[in-house]
Amino acid sequence: MSNNPLSSTIEHVEELELEVRRSVAELNKIPYSKVRHNLAIAGGNYEKGLLAIKSILRELVERGRAVVALPASRSRNLTLHEVLRKHWSITVKRCYSTAESFRASFDLESQGGIPWELYYLLIDIFDQFGFSEPFVFREADQFMNETSKETIVEVLDPLVKPLQEPIPSTVESKSASKTTVPDVIPANTISYIAGEARNPLLWPVLVHEGFHVLDKRLGLFDQMEKSLVHPHRLPNLDKAKGADINRRWSREIFQDIAAAHYFGPLYSFSLLKYFERLPYLQTIEHPEMSVRLYSVNKYLEEQHGATISNSDILTRALGFCRPILREEISKYVTAGELTDDTTRELDMFYQGVTSWIRSQEIILFEARLNQYLVESDRAREMVLTTTIDKVPYVDPAFKFEEVVDMVCNFGVYPAFHPTLLLNIVLSVSDQYTPQGFQERYVDCMKKWCVKEAWNQAISSPRKS
Ligand SMILES: [Zn+2]
Repeated sequence: MSNNPLSSTIEHVEELELEVRRSVAELNKIPYSKVRHNLAIAGGNYEKGLLAIKSILRELVERGRAVVALPASRSRNLTLHEVLRKHWSITVKRCYSTAESFRASFDLESQGGIPWELYYLLIDIFDQFGFSEPFVFREADQFMNETSKETIVEVLDPLVKPLQEPIPSTVESKSASKTTVPDVIPANTISYIAGEARNPLLWPVLVHEGFHVLDKRLGLFDQMEKSLVHPHRLPNLDKAKGADINRRWSREIFQDIAAAHYFGPLYSFSLLKYFERLPYLQTIEHPEMSVRLYSVNKYLEEQHGATISNSDILTRALGFCRPILREEISKYVTAGELTDDTTRELDMFYQGVTSWIRSQEIILFEARLNQYLVESDRAREMVLTTTIDKVPYVDPAFKFEEVVDMVCNFGVYPAFHPTLLLNIVLSVSDQYTPQGFQERYVDCMKKWCVKEAWNQAISSPRKS
């Protein structure tokens, strides 16, 4: 037997490292360079984590040997194996399970079932906020978001700690450890429910998680809070719960209101469907679903009456969502779940968040729709005035039913921005979310990705 009792464990961690490296090498099967780039960074971070685990284990063995070498009176003649078990069995076990979880996480990120095109839905928002940190999607059992600090650094911290303590039975005080928690590249993970990966009705929820990431890394909620002027303030939804919990709840509602403005009317419908499928519980992070739905319904009520000339897309999407949400809200009111006090607090907060998000230099749904109409208007003109190889990739302005017809009946996939597309096709989802239709939506997004790349290529000066 080897004189290193942890040699097999270390070997196993090495295998895991190799497997992560192999998965990174296989990323070239993904057709999008940005997605490959993000995943390669995530994989690189896990490799660093595994490397750290390996050196923690090696150092534990060294420390064990130091204990064995102590004069017999202090080491009680234990073998290396016994010393490791006595002092560090928990750390060794945690090293092992952490290494396993790093590898498994990367599999769930690089081989998950979510369409790669959905990355671009979030990249679009992140770009607009000037946020360039990489993020990856991970298959999981819930929607959530984490930073690399949370998934790697904070997991390794407690494993490194024992190395900074004096060697048992000695008073050596200063740390002799060579192992530290690695510097990982700041990155983010957005988890989605595995079974819902190909359910377009829940894709808008990813936008909510995207705003969480922006909030964590750029402090959006704090910026918004600072912008509030009397009488606007954070809502007090349950006085008995205290300021901290009410603040956390406000943060959650903030992500919903921001997502509704960015995504458009169908965000509210998605949220409702999500709550229907997933047994929703109030927690210290998540307020009652009634207050979340009330807040996104505010957006629908506010948009109602907004007319965008030459397009019926907003009107049709609102026409679909409003009655459904209105009925849901009235149930809460009748049941006494939404009191006048609560709705007053939420109305006040909605206004504050809305004016903050409108002050940001990002394209919200209404502006996105207008932008599409303006671009489309220019299409014919451009064909006449520019040389053919420079004609941008522009479609004429389609009406709501025309898009439905193309995508759902004729299998023609226009290059629509994902928010515009989903606001149309999900508005007829009663008829059109049968199995297989998500592939059509993904095909539209694919085309949109090509269009974006094309537009960028022709608008930036040519390098020669
Ligand atoms: Zn949330």
